[in-house]
Amino acid sequence: ADPELELRGERTRRDAAMGGASERYYAEPPRIERGWGALLIETRGRAYLDMVNNVTAIGHSHPRLADSVARQLNLLNTNSRFLYGLYADFTSRLLEHSPDPALDVVIPVSSGSEANDLALRLAQVATGRKMIVAAREGYHGWTMASDAVSTSAFDNPHAADSRPDWVDIVSAPNEYRGRFRGEGAAERYVAELRERLAELAAAGRAPAAFISEPVLGNAGGVIPPAGYLAGAYAAIREAGGVAIADEVQVGYGRLGSHFWGSELAGAVPDIITVAKAAGNAFPLGAVITKREIVDALREEGMFFSSSGGAPASMAAGLAVLDVIRDEGLQENARVVGEHLIEKLRRLGERHPMLGEVHGSGLYLGVELVRDRATLEPATEATREVCERLLAHGVIMQATSERQNVLKVKPPMTLTIAQADVFVAALDRVMSEVESLNL
Ligand code: PMP
Repeated sequence: ADPELELRGERTRRDAAMGGASERYYAEPPRIERGWGALLIETRGRAYLDMVNNVTAIGHSHPRLADSVARQLNLLNTNSRFLYGLYADFTSRLLEHSPDPALDVVIPVSSGSEANDLALRLAQVATGRKMIVAAREGYHGWTMASDAVSTSAFDNPHAADSRPDWVDIVSAPNEYRGRFRGEGAAERYVAELRERLAELAAAGRAPAAFISEPVLGNAGGVIPPAGYLAGAYAAIREAGGVAIADEVQVGYGRLGSHFWGSELAGAVPDIITVAKAAGNAFPLGAVITKREIVDALREEGMFFSSSGGAPASMAAGLAVLDVIRDEGLQENARVVGEHLIEKLRRLGERHPMLGEVHGSGLYLGVELVRDRATLEPATEATREVCERLLAHGVIMQATSERQNVLKVKPPMTLTIAQADVFVAALDRVMSEVESLNL
């Protein structure tokens, strides 16, 4: 068989079956057949370094995960209404990472969208209110509710204007290019939130919750100014609402120094949502929260998810937490992340298009600009950098509302040698792209 023809056939089949929903990377995406660690191997045998895959936190095709899920599938997999040891094993293991003894309940679901949808509903039921305040530049999912609080859709300057009436959007605490920068930025973002909360209360629309990514993952790993998150959580609590931290992207040890983004940002939420890394691409998400919040839902009705908490998902979730612990992956994220940050910042000395390196551990964002003074986003150049990196064997994608940030969030198994391969390829590709004057 001609692999080129096969590849074209695969694209046609995908487009025909999915129509406009056929989202994919690259003009000519490689056909990936298998993975190993931070490597993806295509049908023609070429290996790519996967620098964006924060779903596969413990690396591709981890044998401990594969074996433990396969074993469970051979024993039993069904809905979660009976008693299974693995259900208790996973939920109690996840609670070992709870940032506060008050957050002592876990509800497993099957995705990040579901986790956020449930978190919003829990907040509404627990407070008896409808209104949700969300920070801009966040993505929280595709379900009706999680999509309603998402504003990260790029190319849409009206993202904040097209929300349903139960959603209110405040500025993203982005100190690099946001509304407030430099000295006093945290206080000014919190003051803006407080003002908005007061206006909503005065209009009889006091909010149930404030939701944000504690480190702005979809903006490219932007860490909010110190004190912002604690201030925002204090503000929403004083207004009678609860604080929701969407840790789907930035949680689970990837930041290196901390297991949770909210921990790094110095605040404790009332509800945490996780997914992605939780199942390493096996469908698993979860809500971690306080007992009284879940009890409020019980009084109102019920919550049940057929596949959420199913034994095979619990086996996957447990294996992921075991591997993160036993292989020291959070520490690896810290060490390799520090190395990467230093090398990337050094690239900035030679490449004027490199505006800033955001983030922590193995959640970094390399923001590309056309001008360091005006911060004009280098969106075209960023797309070109990603396409050219593919030719160099590196998988890289753009993120942020402006699509001008390289999202560096590889499997947490990334080695120093692999990090160096990425930086060397980026160095060459940036030189090429700079000469195009995009
Ligand atoms: N929250 C964040 C921060 C995300 O990045 C995503 C997925 N990109 C989601 C929620 C939704 O998760 P899922 O795709 O598993 O529904």
